[in-house]
Amino acid sequence: MTQIRKAADALAAVRRIVFFTGAGISAESGIPTFRAKLTGLWAKHDPQRLETADAFRENPALVWGWYLWRRQQAMLAEPNAAHYSISRLAKAGWEVSVVTQNIDDLHERAGVDAVVHLHGSLLGAKCSGCHRPVALQPDQLSISNEGELVEPPRCNYCNGRTRPGVVWFRENLPDNAWLSAVRLVRTCDLLISVGTSGVVRPAADLPEMAIRANATVIHVNLEDVSMGGEREIMLIGSAVQVLPELLTRLGVS
Ligand code: NAD
Repeated sequence: MTQIRKAADALAAVRRIVFFTGAGISAESGIPTFRAKLTGLWAKHDPQRLETADAFRENPALVWGWYLWRRQQAMLAEPNAAHYSISRLAKAGWEVSVVTQNIDDLHERAGVDAVVHLHGSLLGAKCSGCHRPVALQPDQLSISNEGELVEPPRCNYCNGRTRPGVVWFRENLPDNAWLSAVRLVRTCDLLISVGTSGVVRPAADLPEMAIRANATVIHVNLEDVSMGGEREIMLIGSAVQVLPELLTRLGVS
């Protein structure tokens, strides 16, 4: 039996599914994955370095400008066939939840209401001093040139610098998001992991947690990222091709 047939049979036999998604699901919407090298004026920077509180402390205008630019790119991007496949499955009657590591809002814009964002959101901002959420005006969010350095606005309460509402390396995940993700993963029948390298922890532990809770795990990735377990199915290919094909096999229109 082919892997895609096996995956379709596994899906047909269950009701409660968790999609666990990473940067690869948004790649074909034009949002670069984490490991993709930065291009244009950002090319001289290492994203792993820019996504840290240290980088923000050392050069807030560089990091704030980079996030404003990423926010703008994400808002210009459109959900792709992989994002829409998830909402089509939900409409077809499966109980679908999404736990994402992505900081874009493409799942929501593809029609999925309940999305657990483990790493925060590009659309949010908070004070780096008192951690209060900060509501920004449209003129504070615009960026005219790629590579522009933008001094972050100051907090009205403590005068701290506003920072992106995302989780940086070496920071804890938001408690609520992590607890929701664990609860969903421990009670699902099937977890479909899409476009994640599985190296950013603790998020990367979720597929293994699902297996320990007796669920089946389907991986969709350009590369083999399976852990070699008996209840794992590896579908190699782009999410925009694999997920619609899976739905076709299931007869979901
Ligand atoms: P990653 O960059 O480490 O891994 C991406 C994975 O997607 C790789 O395994 C790659 O083989 C796979 N992939 C690439 N294109 C694909 C496609 N078309 N179809 C299927 N698979 C594809 O990303 P990660 O595992 O999500 O972890 C890195 C962290 O970077 C995330 O936690 C997130 O916070 C952040 N990030 C988010 C975004 C976003 O919001 N879209 C973008 C970049 C980085």
